Amino acid sequence: MKNKTVQIRAIDTYDLALIEDAVSSWFSRLKDNKIKRSKRVLIKPNLLGAYPPERAVTTHPVVLEAIIRYFLALNKEVWVGDSPGGSVSVHKVWEVCGLQDLAERYPIRLVNLSTERFKELNYEGNAVKISEAIFKCGIVINVAKYKTHSLMAFTGALKNLYGLVPGMVKSEYHRENPDTFSFSAKLLAIYGLIRSKITYSIIDGITGMDGAGPSAGNTKHFGLLMGSDSIPALDAVASRMMGFKMKDVPYLWDALHMEGIIPSKIRVPQSFLHHQIPGVDIRTAKLSKESLKYLPKTLRYAFKKVYYYYPVVSERCVRCGVCVKSCPVEAIFWQDSGYPKVDTHKCIKCMCCHELCPTQAIDIHKSFVAKRFPV
Ligand code: SF4
Ligand code: SF4
Repeated sequence: MKNKTVQIRAIDTYDLALIEDAVSSWFSRLKDNKIKRSKRVLIKPNLLGAYPPERAVTTHPVVLEAIIRYFLALNKEVWVGDSPGGSVSVHKVWEVCGLQDLAERYPIRLVNLSTERFKELNYEGNAVKISEAIFKCGIVINVAKYKTHSLMAFTGALKNLYGLVPGMVKSEYHRENPDTFSFSAKLLAIYGLIRSKITYSIIDGITGMDGAGPSAGNTKHFGLLMGSDSIPALDAVASRMMGFKMKDVPYLWDALHMEGIIPSKIRVPQSFLHHQIPGVDIRTAKLSKESLKYLPKTLRYAFKKVYYYYPVVSERCVRCGVCVKSCPVEAIFWQDSGYPKVDTHKCIKCMCCHELCPTQAIDIHKSFVAKRFPV
């Protein structure tokens, strides 16, 4: 059993000097000399889509800048790469998220993981395609955003690894793994395959999101930057501070188990030992349909009749077509009115449309019971 440490700093604003101080102190404490030996570093942010930094959907560019400066000072070759969701051009994503600006000011390479070659690997029978970029870099810094997530409850360091799956293969996996638990198994397979490649993970929680995350929730000031060389330890501490219980985050227990980590033994700075962030809306994101599996079959049918939710296109829709192109099961179609509509019978509730709509025009319709009793 291992004792893992999670570093936490209270940082109120995206102040480059404060963030640089935190990351350089964390990186310099890393025990292995991988950082010394390796020439190239891949920084993997959360670039879910073309969202400006103040929306708190994507990793803030100042956090990336601090990491870039640390490694450039060590004369490393720095790549920054992700595979954004949906059909929006990656150049647009880089521009809006502040990455283009970083590439103009620093000698870094922006990498589109959607178009890089990939390897098909297998983890206990679960096949996963993973961008080769990660295998070309001796140092990998995983930089997630602190948010709730409509499908997985919480998104932190482990969920951020899903961006290593190239482009539309992500939608294919959603189609093949429509329920939370099979999708969670896919995430664990990704983690199992590449965990030894990840040097360090950071969660940008200076601002983050609660409510209907990961893109349509409320921007929330958390004032925290967290890091660890253990992804499950980092997610366990971060999700607990948001108010989630271990069972709420479907992959967490297995990921901790994979690493032999006992949650109560994870070390955090003394001042954060029992820290609970006040007023976080996690109710909207907490899992619902999975509770069905604990009900007897006879009750399950009746429960489904009264407890349901599905995405609906609202009047905020600007008819961009992103949702139609992104739905892995083609459950969104164009109506004669020129607006898209969700076919609720076909929908597998992966929430890709909800995540990727650039105007947050996809609402989640919940039945009366689902609204009253989020579980
Ligand atoms: S719902 Fe959103 S993603 Fe779909 S067409 Fe409308 S604006 Fe675009
Ligand atoms: S309609 Fe939205 S939630 Fe339903 S399957 Fe398609 S992308 Fe997923």
